[in-house]
Amino acid sequence: MAKIIDGKVVSQFVKDGVKKEVEALGKKGVSVGLAVIIVGSDPASRTYVNNKKKACAEAGIISEEYALPEETTMQELLSLIKELNQKKSVNGILCQLPLPKHLDEKLVIENIDPKKDVDAFHAVNTGHIMIGDYSFLPCTPAGIMEMLDYYNIETQGKNAVVIGRSNIVGKPMAMLLLQKNATVTVCHSKTENLGEITRRADILVAAVGKEKFVTGDMIKDGAVVIDVGINRNGEGKLCGDVDFEQAEKKASYITPVPGGVGPMTIATLLKNTVTAAKLQNAIE
Ligand code: NDP
Repeated sequence: MAKIIDGKVVSQFVKDGVKKEVEALGKKGVSVGLAVIIVGSDPASRTYVNNKKKACAEAGIISEEYALPEETTMQELLSLIKELNQKKSVNGILCQLPLPKHLDEKLVIENIDPKKDVDAFHAVNTGHIMIGDYSFLPCTPAGIMEMLDYYNIETQGKNAVVIGRSNIVGKPMAMLLLQKNATVTVCHSKTENLGEITRRADILVAAVGKEKFVTGDMIKDGAVVIDVGINRNGEGKLCGDVDFEQAEKKASYITPVPGGVGPMTIATLLKNTVTAAKLQNAIE
């Protein structure tokens, strides 16, 4: 039976560290602030934003919410971003995605000052990740690396397989694993013989967005299985991309959903906000 990688425990460890750093900065007269923009009334986005604000408050980070109506124009949104880019008390800017369809997410990301881009979505920051010289780490993949580290899971020389190649999860995940000397394969919807590839994985990361996509027969005995997926099953219950019951019989370590990768994403966001505050105040 696999050992559970407990995202709540690891994220608490990270958040405790962030809180201490925020306190230390406070003693130097530096406060840490995050602006959170939400457009429209998508219930999932509202939950994410509320969770992020709550985590900020617990860590001593001042969060400002900008809740804009569904019919907000691109011009209005960009003008708010411009204002926040210049606002000294705001160290990090987060625009909750997805945005309503009439708004151009790419343009929104491009307009956030890279120094305040705590999600690390801006091309400048993704470029830095590519060359391995970065200030901000992409929240979900970095959270996963933190979990592996916490449980002393070796990546060097291991076969790592990432299913999914999105800009926010799959691609940066592959980069971070590569930087930690894993041999990385990235799979996607056009990949042939997926099971053959995943069965070679010592570390398998599933970021697909499909319930029970990874079944037990796709997993090598003793593999470390990281489930990024957030899906709702037929009963409306939260579940990942991995068939947990089957996978836990084969894996050595596994992340549950909920309580696995999810809490780590928020913890890394807080960490990035502190990094942003330090950079903007020229503090090492
Ligand atoms: P995307 O939809 O952007 O990407 C999904 C990826 O899965 C794509 O690269 C797609 O391939 C690939 N894929 C789809 N079908 C198959 C298939 N049959 N075989 C192999 N690959 C396939 O999703 P995200 O990366 O944004 O998110 C993935 C999941 O992770 C979602 O459930 C999301 O909710 C969750 N998530 C969780 C977070 C957390 O904090 N825990 C944070 C972010 C996301 P192709 O490129 O060819 O289309």
